[in-house]
Amino acid sequence: MLNLVLFGPPGAGKGTQAEYLIESFGLIHLSTGDLLRSEIAAQTELGNEAKRLMDKGELVPDEMVIGMIKGKLDANKDAKGFIFDGFPRTVDQAKALDVLLNENGTPVSGMLCLQVEKQELINRLLSRGKISGRSDDQNQSIIENRIAVYSEKTLPLINYYEPQGKHFDVDGMGPIEDIAGRLKKVVEKL
Ligand code: ADP
Repeated sequence: MLNLVLFGPPGAGKGTQAEYLIESFGLIHLSTGDLLRSEIAAQTELGNEAKRLMDKGELVPDEMVIGMIKGKLDANKDAKGFIFDGFPRTVDQAKALDVLLNENGTPVSGMLCLQVEKQELINRLLSRGKISGRSDDQNQSIIENRIAVYSEKTLPLINYYEPQGKHFDVDGMGPIEDIAGRLKKVVEKL
C-alpha cells in the first residue's frame, strides 16, 4: 500500500498534482479542503462551523478533519493507497493519522513537499479565486494569513517526518507536467 502526504503551502499546486499521482499510481485522493467545502455546500452543522474559520484563513479544529479522514479510511478499506492533500496540517493531525493508518498496518510512505516562492503562491491563489469564486482566494490579506498559519502550524511537520526518513522536497515551480514528472520519480523510489 502506498500512502502519500502531499505537502506545501496554499497555492503550491497540491490538488493539481494529486490528479497526476492518482492517474500514475491508482490512489484515492483525500483532500480535507474539498471535504470541508462539500460540507459547506450541503449546509451541514460541521460545514457552517468550518466556513467561519476558512473565510478568515484559519485552520478548522483538528478533531473535525481527523473525524472526516477516519470516515474515508473506513469506507475505503480495499484501497491501493491514499494521497492526503491538505492533511495533516498540524503535528497532532499527523500523530492521529499514524494511529489510524497503523490500525490497518500501512504507515505513511512519504511526505512530498512542493516548494514554491511566496509571490508565486499569492499570484496563483488570486488567479484561482477569479475562476473558482473561492472567497478565501480573493483577498490578499486572507491569503497572507493562510501562508502565515502554514509557516507557524504546518511547516513544523517537516521535523515530524524528516527523522523518519519520509520527507522529500520537490521543486514546485515551472510547468505543471515537469513538476508531475519530478514527483513521480520520487514516488517510484519509495
Ligand atoms: P489551500 O491549500 O489552498 O489553503 P485547502 O482547500 O487545502 O486550500 O484548505 C482550505 C481551508 O480549509 C484552509 O485554509 C483551512 O481553513 C481548512 N482546512 C483544510 N484542511 C485542513 C486541515 N487539515 N486542518 C485544518 N483546517 C483545514
